[in-house]
This record gives sequence, C-alpha cells and structure tokens, in this order.
Amino acid sequence: MSEAKQSAQSVESDRSAGGPRQLTTADNVNLRTGIRNEMNYRLALKILIIACFFVLSVSAQITSESEWEMTRPVEPFRVIANVYYVGTNDVASYLITSDEGHILIDSGFEETVPLIEASVKKLGFDLKDVKILLNNHEHYDHCGGLKTLKEKTGAKLYSVREQAEVLARGGSNDFRFGGKQIFRPVTADKQIVHGEVITLGENKLITIRTPGHTKGATTWTMRVRDGDRDLEVVFLSSLSNLDYDLVSNDKYPEIGGDFESTFEILLELKPDVFLGSHASFFRMEKKFEMLKSSPKENPFIDPEGYTKFVERMREDFRQKLETQKKAAEEK
Ligand SMILES: [Zn+2]
Repeated sequence: MSEAKQSAQSVESDRSAGGPRQLTTADNVNLRTGIRNEMNYRLALKILIIACFFVLSVSAQITSESEWEMTRPVEPFRVIANVYYVGTNDVASYLITSDEGHILIDSGFEETVPLIEASVKKLGFDLKDVKILLNNHEHYDHCGGLKTLKEKTGAKLYSVREQAEVLARGGSNDFRFGGKQIFRPVTADKQIVHGEVITLGENKLITIRTPGHTKGATTWTMRVRDGDRDLEVVFLSSLSNLDYDLVSNDKYPEIGGDFESTFEILLELKPDVFLGSHASFFRMEKKFEMLKSSPKENPFIDPEGYTKFVERMREDFRQKLETQKKAAEEK
C-alpha cells in the first residue's frame, strides 16, 4: 500500500534530531492548546471532506489514521526555478509551470485534490492551465485523485504501459492489491516509454522507468535554469519493498531484477535537486524551513542526500532479499 509507516518514521527521526529538552509549564500549556487546536482542525477537515463526498458521491479512500497523518495541509512554495511544491506534508505533488501550460505530477489521494487546487491558486496559477498529468506510481496515495483532476482540468494523462493498465482498472489488477477496485479508474491519453522526452513550453522532462515498488513506477528528470547555472532536478518515484515477496512472486516474477536495475539506473543519474514522491524521502518540511530562513542557499540542491537515499533503499532491498532467500532455502 502506501509508505505511511516508513514516512512517519522518517519524520519522527527528523523531529528528534535536535536532542531532548525538559518541558516547562508554558510548554505543556502550549502543547495541550496546540494538540487541541490540531484535533479541532483535523476533525473539521474530516467533517468537511466527508460532507463533500456525500455531495459528490465519491467514495473516500483514506481509511486509516496513518494516512490522515500523510495529508496535513502545508504551505505551497517554489522549490526552484519554475518547479513548485503543491502537495501535503508527505504526499508530494509538483507543479511545473510554463507560458504554454503546466505539468502536474501526482494527485495524492482523492481527498488531496481540493488541497492541490487551493495550493495552485495560492501560488497565483490556475489549475485549468494544467495540460499534462503525470503519476510517479500507481498506488492510490499518489494517483487516487487523477480522474478528478482530469475532469477539472481537461489535461492529458501520460503513463507508461504498465502503469496505464492499473490506472484504467482503478488498481484492481495491481500485483499486490489484487481484485478490488481502490480508486476511480482513469484512462491514460498517451502511452510513454523509457527515455521519452515530455515537452511543454520550455520544459523537457525525461521519462525513466524505475519499476520494483510497482510495475509502472516512473521517475522524471528535467533541467532548470537557476540564476546563472543549469541544474538537474529529479522527481523520484518510490523505492520501498513494503511486504513484498522478492524471491518467488507469482504475480511479479521479475520484481527482484527490476529493483536491482532501477537502483543501478538511479545511481547513475547524479541530479542536483532532490525531489521525490513522499516529502519524507527528501526532508521537505525541514528544507522548506531552511529555505525560508536563508533563501540564497537552496537546501533542495542536495546531490549527496539523493545518493544516500537511493543507496539506503538499495541496502534495505538487498537485506530483505537475503533474508527471504535464506528462509526459502530452510523450508
Ligand atoms: Zn506506493
């Protein structure tokens, strides 16, 4: 499913980075008030969303507390050049603008769409100017709102074949989730392939197939002009292996090889700006705070952070693979 737990852990480790401090009485009062405000706010948000769903007759997708934790609204912002963050605290969405229309990567959950719409508007853009929709992978926390976004914008959805097949059936033929429809089915308007360049205005996104987490997982890179330099931005798909059978997976026999080749391709990329499908992958909230306090040193330019993250995910994959191989031999 989603990487909710993993994301929560990453966020948690970020929060504890500053070390422990004794809480004062004032802190306790602030904490209690903060928690109460947060609870009231979240309760109001839930009621609003549930009410919207009754009106629109759209089935809700968020079913757990950990998923609500991934959909906290955050301030939208310009990451670099014409690339903007319009996602939630953890489920990322990106707006790439141009005079000839915009590209939007990922819809989040069905419930995330109103937040994306509000974020785009707040940044001074019009959602109706979105011409191309992309999806980093076909799990409902990233693609659940694509159908609604397509209806709202009239934009064309571009997908690799493996992704398009799952999107068209609302997730019901996914190798992990099986026979149940999970999100509103959405049809891709154009099938794209590995290496294909997606052009809109001055933007050129290079399509990189990065299967493993899903069969249709896709990463993109693009060049941006930042002041007097050119920088390579990566929009990284998900790399976690969740609870997958990596050794004898009947529904995805090539999963192990796919993961290995994905890591190899990604480690050759060497991007400057590290962005990904979950904000926790690249510590979005922490970097956004840093960007606000010193705008001249853009913390999203983080080639080392990118390489470390991909290497860490490869290590995790290889350990899991070894454990599963040993367990299979002992049977
Ligand atoms: Zn996923």
